[in-house]
Amino acid sequence: MSVQPTRYRGRFAPSPTGPLHPGSLTAALGSWLLARHHGGDWLLRIEDLDPPREVRGAAAQQIATLAAFGMTSDAPIVWQSTRGGAYADALERLLEDGFAFACRCSRNDLSDYEGIHHACIAPVAARADTTRQPAIRLRVGEGVVGFDDAIHGRFEQDVRGEVGDFVLRRADGLWAYQLAVVVDDAAQGITHVVRGADLLDSTPRQILLQRALELPTPAYAHLPLVRDASGRKLSKSDAARPVDPADPLPALRHALIALGQDARVLNGIGSVEIALQRALAAFDPTCIPREPMPSTETTLVSPG
Ligand code: GLU
Repeated sequence: MSVQPTRYRGRFAPSPTGPLHPGSLTAALGSWLLARHHGGDWLLRIEDLDPPREVRGAAAQQIATLAAFGMTSDAPIVWQSTRGGAYADALERLLEDGFAFACRCSRNDLSDYEGIHHACIAPVAARADTTRQPAIRLRVGEGVVGFDDAIHGRFEQDVRGEVGDFVLRRADGLWAYQLAVVVDDAAQGITHVVRGADLLDSTPRQILLQRALELPTPAYAHLPLVRDASGRKLSKSDAARPVDPADPLPALRHALIALGQDARVLNGIGSVEIALQRALAAFDPTCIPREPMPSTETTLVSPG
């Protein structure tokens, strides 16, 4: 009997904190191109876990913008705000198995330790205060956690030393990104996580959680971040200029260049569908650079 190889399943998982900007479009396009290049599916997940940081209408706008760029989810979109039950089940299991623990340390308590938690040091009175919900943390043991990133190669981190026991559910009841992403990547059957390099150093934490929950570890590829013309990182929270869904081709060209691809394949093309087909046909994953392209402004190739 032959074993069926698992079909490639990638995803893009934006937080609805604003419109898509060149950096998030590059992550979306990179994950889409890699999924399609491997004959796989591409799923969309809205990471609406943190209401105070969300911008009303941003999720709908992101979904519409992706559609304008020719990228739509191959399965119903997962909204993390509806997934609390799954996160609660995972947390309960971690608590029962002794991997997670309740913690009443405040930010102030940990300030002498650069915010890194190695042992509960909250004053006795705070620890006994059952009127306040504790945070739940993952207990992180000694040792280096490593993985082979498709773009960056071997990446290793001493999670205990550099991060410490990290939060899974905050004292205010909000779910932490690290727990939600691990539970959802497994629930959606994601085989390949492709995202921005700003999340490279979150991956060892996610691998620790996968091990504790006995979930498979997907393959990882962390895409270069996009820089502005002066070499500064364009981040989600920066006032980066959003991409224009009404005129997708220039931003698509920009994203292809950030992914190390030859954007000349788009020359003379008028529709997004054909642009994506051309980009996919010419796509070479080995050209994706590790570091950001020096300046996306100067590397822009004018359409011929
Ligand atoms: N929601 C995260 C973000 O927008 C990305 C999570 C991920 O791709 O793992 O930064």
